[in-house]
Amino acid sequence: MKCLAGKVYDGEGFRDGYALVEGGKTVEIGEGKAPYVPDAVGVVIPRMVDGHTHCADAGVKVEPGMTLEELVAPPDGLKHRYLREVSEDTLVHDMHEFEETARSNGIGTIVDFREGGMKGCILAGKALSDAVVLGRPVSPSFDGGEVEDILSVADGIALPSVSDMDRRYTEKVAQACHAAGKPFALHVSERIREDMEFVMSLEPAFVVHMVEATDADILACADAGIPIVICPRSNRFFGKTARAARMLELGAEVALGTDNAMLCPPDMRGEARMLAGILSAQGGDPSDVWHCLIDGGGKLLNRTKSISSAFGTSDPAVVLPCPGKSPDTALDSEGPVFVP
Ligand SMILES: [Zn+2]
Repeated sequence: MKCLAGKVYDGEGFRDGYALVEGGKTVEIGEGKAPYVPDAVGVVIPRMVDGHTHCADAGVKVEPGMTLEELVAPPDGLKHRYLREVSEDTLVHDMHEFEETARSNGIGTIVDFREGGMKGCILAGKALSDAVVLGRPVSPSFDGGEVEDILSVADGIALPSVSDMDRRYTEKVAQACHAAGKPFALHVSERIREDMEFVMSLEPAFVVHMVEATDADILACADAGIPIVICPRSNRFFGKTARAARMLELGAEVALGTDNAMLCPPDMRGEARMLAGILSAQGGDPSDVWHCLIDGGGKLLNRTKSISSAFGTSDPAVVLPCPGKSPDTALDSEGPVFVP
């Protein structure tokens, strides 16, 4: 058994206490002094969810100043050419490495937008042990058989943005996911603002980015209970910033993701640190970052897989080293995360 002590997140904020972890589960959460000598002291939180990854593209050599289209637009952005040309062994190796790094950074589950059709999902299945894998069809026009094949090996389907695809195609993929009872998700308003009415008609489990979203677009998500995953570091690379403070003010559920492996490693502290800065600059409360990091990630998992990330029910807690009195200093620390 491992005893983790310090500032324990309780869903509202932090209190002094401890968590006991045994057999891969958090078995007890308590207030006050820990009953054993702690194995680690700091900020005690559930293992984190990386809400948006493309874990296979770490090997892409990104040149500074490349645009979003040059880099990731299907079918011929640099990343897609790379994924077509690289060997399967390299992809499996890189995905596995990515998950190992994520694990050591205190991440329990990654939600991966896997390219490469059914084959891409099968490779992800070989490489990853605890991921939500959302596949992406490769056929240029809707192929019901292909979508069925992907859904037989993946947790669901996630598409690029609606601007990159034919509407009817997108609708059919969404319908196939709903018919199979599996989540459908997509990138929304990353490069340009997209038609939110159309996006909502697809009934996504969650949407990613929304950097060009208007208040009405954000409200549509808030009202429908559709979480928004934002990726501050990836957005920053392309000169964009999500209106995170406004999203929270309007009642949207915000979760965090690290996006493309070629741009950012799976490090939620780095993502949360940048979000805290954004919230401050936008007149919001930087400590809301914990809600996005922990509760937002948990909400996302509940919409993608029927598992809960709540304390005591599944994942073990982890400890972020916390050099100061305030838990917020834990986001600035580069010290290793304690993962029991
Ligand atoms: Zn993405």
